[in-house]
Amino acid sequence: MKRCRTWIEISERALVHNIESMRAILEPRARFCAVVKANAYGHGLKEVVTIANRAGVDAYAVDDIDDALYLQEIFPSALIIVLGYTMFDRFKEAINAGIHLTLYDKEGIEWAQKVGSELAKTINVHLKIETGTQRQGASLDDLPDLAQQFLRSPYVKLEGLSTHFANIEDADTSDFAAQQFTLLGQGAETLASYGLVPTYRHCACSAAIILYPQTHQTLVRAGISMYGLWPSESVQNTARKLNMNLDLVPVMTWKTIVAQIKNVSMGTPVGYGLTEKIKRSGRIAVLPVGYFDGYRRSLSSIGEVLLRGQRCKIIGRVCMNMMMVDVSDVPSVAKEDEVILLGTDGRHRISAEDIAQKSSTVNYEVIAQINRGLPRIIV
Ligand SMILES: *Cc1c(COP(=O)(O)O)cnc(C)c1O
Repeated sequence: MKRCRTWIEISERALVHNIESMRAILEPRARFCAVVKANAYGHGLKEVVTIANRAGVDAYAVDDIDDALYLQEIFPSALIIVLGYTMFDRFKEAINAGIHLTLYDKEGIEWAQKVGSELAKTINVHLKIETGTQRQGASLDDLPDLAQQFLRSPYVKLEGLSTHFANIEDADTSDFAAQQFTLLGQGAETLASYGLVPTYRHCACSAAIILYPQTHQTLVRAGISMYGLWPSESVQNTARKLNMNLDLVPVMTWKTIVAQIKNVSMGTPVGYGLTEKIKRSGRIAVLPVGYFDGYRRSLSSIGEVLLRGQRCKIIGRVCMNMMMVDVSDVPSVAKEDEVILLGTDGRHRISAEDIAQKSSTVNYEVIAQINRGLPRIIV
């Protein structure tokens, strides 16, 4: 008997396959850093890292210190990099746990030196530089001052130099990315002129790993590709044109069950706001999943699910914890039948990209928004 009403299945085989496939295209010097922020892109942090560790990833990247500390407990000797902002108050924990922090300004390095010297421990820092994303990053003009500050801060070790591409998933040309890459190289030269040569130089996300091997440097940060999804259709098409034999297999299947089946006659309105009426008499099923779980409300009346190998359309609005689907064409449907919300069932498939397109977003958001509280089951 099943115990949960809605859950996520994680295919161990698919995840290992994707990690191995991505590793196979890396330049020889590049380490593989698995990006597991956002609960491993909705796949479940614990489940993903357990598998990834066996598949031999070299490092993990997370957004915040809490996820980093969690990982450090499980894998005490792993290289763990926090990509996002770390509050001053948390530096102590980061240093004690040997976690690498991303910093990009004078204040951050000052604080790192202060806390490091208090604890008499070295803190590993990845300096992120601004090359065109206008997100985090130190400007190139500030690098000479920052370099001198590093030299004056014995407890702060410059372990990495990084940047992040702004326009690589959706771009027709690689011009902007190439320019950013050049700036990263210039940043590295400036630092080197002060005798600072960080162990890791990194900038490549999935799209760059796949399309621009020259960006691999000494470490790559692979997110979406590891989960078996393409960064965008354009990256997928370009890879195909280049005859790259890269096969990514989606890792996640999202399932729920049928909670109730009812007959409805033509003209009956369904759900909040009475937004949709039954077009011909038939049957609907109530599913115990809604937008609280991360099933997007924008899929109201347009989303589809798979039930006994058939596509069934959502009727009316997606509610907080429930939604209704048309099962008129699935005569044998029974209570507690399995329903696929995202994944493959025989000939049919509902992909993160299908859902993204219907709800005007990207595959990244569709998977990252799946509620962290739902059980993840390794299959
Ligand atoms: C999320 C993220 C990545 C991973 O990007 P993908 O496109 O999912 O591979 C890499 N680097 C940084 C800084 C990120 O925030």
